[in-house]
Amino acid sequence: MTRTPKVVVAGGGIGGLTAGIALAKRGIDVQVFEQAPAIGEIGAGLTLSPNALKAYEGLGVRDAIEAIGFDAEWQVVRRWNDGAEVSRVNRSGYADIFGAPYISLHRADFVEVLAENLPDGILNLGTRAVGAESTAGGAVLRLDDGREIEADLVIGADGVRSAVRSSIMETTEPRFTGTVCFRGLVPFDEVADAVQTKDWMLYVGPERHVISYMVRRGDVVNFVAHVDTDSWLGESWTREADPSEILDVFEGWHEPLLKLLASSTTYYKWALYDRDPIPSWSRGNVTLLGDAAHAMPPFIGQGAGMSVEDAYAIAAAIDYTPGDIPAALARYEALRVGRANEMVARARAGRDKYHLKESWDPKPVGEQNRTGIAHDDIYHYDIREAADFGASAPAVG
Ligand SMILES: Cc1cc2nc3c(=O)[nH]c(=O)nc-3n(C[C@H](O)[C@H](O)[C@H](O)COP(=O)(O)OP(=O)(O)OC[C@H]3O[C@@H](n4cnc5c(N)ncnc54)[C@H](O)[C@@H]3O)c2cc1C
Repeated sequence: MTRTPKVVVAGGGIGGLTAGIALAKRGIDVQVFEQAPAIGEIGAGLTLSPNALKAYEGLGVRDAIEAIGFDAEWQVVRRWNDGAEVSRVNRSGYADIFGAPYISLHRADFVEVLAENLPDGILNLGTRAVGAESTAGGAVLRLDDGREIEADLVIGADGVRSAVRSSIMETTEPRFTGTVCFRGLVPFDEVADAVQTKDWMLYVGPERHVISYMVRRGDVVNFVAHVDTDSWLGESWTREADPSEILDVFEGWHEPLLKLLASSTTYYKWALYDRDPIPSWSRGNVTLLGDAAHAMPPFIGQGAGMSVEDAYAIAAAIDYTPGDIPAALARYEALRVGRANEMVARARAGRDKYHLKESWDPKPVGEQNRTGIAHDDIYHYDIREAADFGASAPAVG
């Protein structure tokens, strides 16, 4: 009989925590090493589309995640200067159409729920990975405290600046996408007069766009205001910003939107980075998932979704051939690399759709498709079916 493989995961963000849950659920011995001393996330929102929630249903945590999220009834696109509606899509039927809704939530609430759903003794906080290596018997993860953790498989889920990735392959620095964003959070009651509804909202305009949606079960509005820029002058890729910065950049935009943008108590300014797609994520018994493998800009809201699907898939692949990690990695990559890389390309194209360089006046509602759902092929995807490899393959190891 094959013994249970031991897997170590570097990074306890959305992908790493989900991988921990998925592997533990299949009885695989897993340890997750996260550099931060406590589980938490920058104060910001996140959307989870139906494909991601179907993965969580397969892991038994969909209800817990939906309980902290918000399911908007309408998705509304507006023109930047006068707020005229460009399109309006009813989202209330998404659960019936796609098998799960499209929700928005606070990142800190989300990672807390993931950590709570991890069995005790798996998550190691305050431990930074410095590199990984495939060995004759498996793989080793090196930590900054000098420890070397031996395992059958090391997974780098340590984000866009992955230490695991740079230790197993030649890799360039992440690419600045040419867009920065300002992010803020405002209690709904404080801006109800201006915002009026709890719809998911997108304002489109020349070289800029703003997305806003509800988090904390509909009590708080989250906004992300994107702007193209030739250079990122900050020393770090994220920093606190001054409200006057954002109001200068969006001068002349729709008045109710400006009220929302002016109302946050804290503003973060993020430079958006991605990576060029690569054809393979594994070297020996070390592999990657999430942003470490395929960082993409947020313009189709799929970065976290892809890391969640990856996490589900790697656990299913190992479960299928627990004694043969190379076979599991081949199956994992065959399922994931093409889809994730396609999302990188679609996400990059997303910016151009919202930020036209020339003078631009989107057509008013009525001349555009009012009900068409963009990206419906992404949402129909069900990783539970795609990664259903059947009963375990005969033991090899
Ligand atoms: C502005 C913005 C908005 C976005 N909006 C959305 C959205 O609405 N929907 C969506 O699906 N995606 C969105 N994304 C993308 C999404 O946030 C990422 O794709 C997702 O967080 C990737 O998860 P991950 O676990 O791979 O990486 P991360 O979330 O970056 O997690 C990596 C973890 O590894 C840890 N770590 C890093 N280095 C080490 C190390 N050396 N050792 C140990 N631990 C380490 C980090 O502390 C972190 O906890 C957005 C991104 C941005 C920038």
